[in-house]
Amino acid sequence: MKTEFIKLTDIEDTDAETFLRAGKILREGGLVAFPTETVYGLGANALDPDAARKIYAAKGRPADNPLIVHVADPREAEAFAVTTPVYYALAQRFMPGPLTVILDKKPLVPDSVTGGLDTVAVRCPGHIAARRLIQAAGVPIAAPSANLSGSPSPTTAEHVLADLSGRVEMILDGGACAIGVESTVIRLTDEGCTLLRPGEVLPRELASVVKNVFVAPAVLDPDAAGDHPQSPGMKYRHYAPKTKLILVEGSRDAFVDFVNSRKDFCGVLAYTEDLKRFKQAKIMDLGGENDPAAQMHNLFRILREADHMQVPVIYAPLPPKTDEYLALYNRIIRAAGCEVIKGRS
Ligand code: AMP
Ligand code: MG
Repeated sequence: MKTEFIKLTDIEDTDAETFLRAGKILREGGLVAFPTETVYGLGANALDPDAARKIYAAKGRPADNPLIVHVADPREAEAFAVTTPVYYALAQRFMPGPLTVILDKKPLVPDSVTGGLDTVAVRCPGHIAARRLIQAAGVPIAAPSANLSGSPSPTTAEHVLADLSGRVEMILDGGACAIGVESTVIRLTDEGCTLLRPGEVLPRELASVVKNVFVAPAVLDPDAAGDHPQSPGMKYRHYAPKTKLILVEGSRDAFVDFVNSRKDFCGVLAYTEDLKRFKQAKIMDLGGENDPAAQMHNLFRILREADHMQVPVIYAPLPPKTDEYLALYNRIIRAAGCEVIKGRS
């Protein structure tokens, strides 16, 4: 199929015609990739089992890895999910925004969307283009990230084009995504909530609304997910560049010393402060050491660029496990296939 690539010019006003056409494609069972504040999503009509199946085929995604259902208003979840007062308290505080809440599902959602689970993931994106697209479609939109399964999530429309050209009807280009890593995913429980995937909404912010916030062990340790994880996406190798990525544990200085002690030419994800300190390396600017927002914004783009650098190996600092860096830690440890070595400190 031919993929139509459309640059959104003035998302507020002049793209009305584009959204009408994109909405029609979705209603008729086609696929449209669109920008959100987190990463680009690959959308299909969430109420059409065959449309949802096309997402799995386009991405090469395992059928048991469920999709997130996107709505333009948190109340629209009523049609297909069993909402609770805590859901609405969270919606009041964090929606529209980068939070996904897992709820029990109603029969309206096809099994192809939930990977056969009896729960469904709900998100109301903050990006105006995403909400206009959902409104134009007139149906909830099932959407995972718009990349080929396993590769780094796309944070620009060009990334989507590189992965999915010829596999989707339309790509809407809204520029680079502001956040750069996927939404925070939580499962509500009787006791509080469990964090299944860290994102921009932090555990301590969730704790201001939900009384107990547990962090699922697989967030920090992919091996803890086992064969039947609470969130099926946890068990898959993810976000990985084709080039080998190795994480180095220790201080900033230890990281610089470690990389400079390597004999071979290598790639390095460096903190902005250290860009001039490396000798034998292709250097990529990850962002300031104390700027997790910049690092999240840059990470997936850099992992994609890393594959064009023609180096045998890339080194990156292991992020701390604190709240602000949890999303980075979670993504980069999967991208590195859990390969961590100690720097001298
Ligand atoms: P993606 O948007 O590509 O990151 O994929 C959505 C992620 O949300 C999946 O990898 C799942 O792990 C998670 N997810 C979606 N639906 C559910 C659900 N019903 N229960 C648990 N996790 C879910
Ligand atoms: Mg994904």
